[in-house]
Amino acid sequence: MDKLELQFFDNIKRFKNSKDFKSKFEQEYKICNDYQIQINYKKELNQGCTRINNFFEFYINGIPLSQILDKFFNNSETLLNNQNGQIGYCKNSYNFDKLVINSFLKKPITSKDLSIFPKEGKEEWFLDFVDELNKAINEDAFFRFYICSVCGDGYCHLTLGKVIKNEKTFSWIFENFKDETLKFEFDSDSYIKVFNDYLKECLMGN
Ligand SMILES: [Zn+2]
Repeated sequence: MDKLELQFFDNIKRFKNSKDFKSKFEQEYKICNDYQIQINYKKELNQGCTRINNFFEFYINGIPLSQILDKFFNNSETLLNNQNGQIGYCKNSYNFDKLVINSFLKKPITSKDLSIFPKEGKEEWFLDFVDELNKAINEDAFFRFYICSVCGDGYCHLTLGKVIKNEKTFSWIFENFKDETLKFEFDSDSYIKVFNDYLKECLMGN
């Protein structure tokens, strides 16, 4: 059985200490807020800008999931230079976190869950986002474990996985371009506790 934890991940600190920062990026960057910086790739690399975002990262058997997936997908640079975890990525992400966590727990999203969001927030991207989560919950579809930290869009920098609920366990499944499968299996009770503890702590912090 695999062990899951959900912990604050200082991605900005990771980035500043990385080799990539010096070799691939302009050294001047913009501080967007406590959670995010925006930085340009060196002009000759032609990769535009990116945002580096802090968030809550999954640790599996003590290792950050992003690190495991970089290896599995054979990424040329870490996914964390362009992607962001779906949980705890800004100060007020609690309501989004709750929806995303529904997809990890296979809990149907109710109209009450959605009523928290103001009407003006329910634009096309939001409906797409909910639709993706619903498919993950109801049809075991692949969904985004990490999102593009520049635009949040589903069409670039995808890192998809799926969650299967079994009788006494939850499984996570990833597939790479070589048709290889990476699978983790967690004991249900401790798995559910990880997410519930996270939400509880968020509420206490607010
Ligand atoms: Zn994007």
